[in-house]
Amino acid sequence: MTTDCLFCKMVSGQIKPNTVYEDDDMLVFKDINPQAPVHVLIIPKKHIATLNDLGQGDAQLIGKMFLKAVKIAKDSGVAESGFRIIMNCNADAGQSVFHVHLHLLGGRFLRWPPG
Ligand code: 5GP
Ligand code: ZN
Repeated sequence: MTTDCLFCKMVSGQIKPNTVYEDDDMLVFKDINPQAPVHVLIIPKKHIATLNDLGQGDAQLIGKMFLKAVKIAKDSGVAESGFRIIMNCNADAGQSVFHVHLHLLGGRFLRWPPG
């Protein structure tokens, strides 16, 4: 828990997001500014600021977050039409919240390459 971190405040319950899934390791909630019909954020409960801060011990956690994102894509009905999982790291990628998270986007055609 990092006191000035928005996503840590969601994990602690200080701020209540629109939660779609929660377990001991992660929290999944709808993005406040959705960029597609399905846009959820999958975050670890543990505070990790950026992908650069991941350690070997986080491999299982990150793997579980990916598997949960795919499960939510399937449950949301976008797995067959297609979806994208994104993790932004630092300024050039536009990371704005410094607590790692997966974006799951689906439900519309997603252009490539991204901006
Ligand atoms: P980043 O730009 O760091 O990859 O993604 C941060 C995401 O967090 C953005 O898509 C943004 O819309 C979302 N976000 C920022 N503040 C809030 C909030 O208070 N609630 C929710 N649900 N999402 C937020
Ligand atoms: Zn945090």
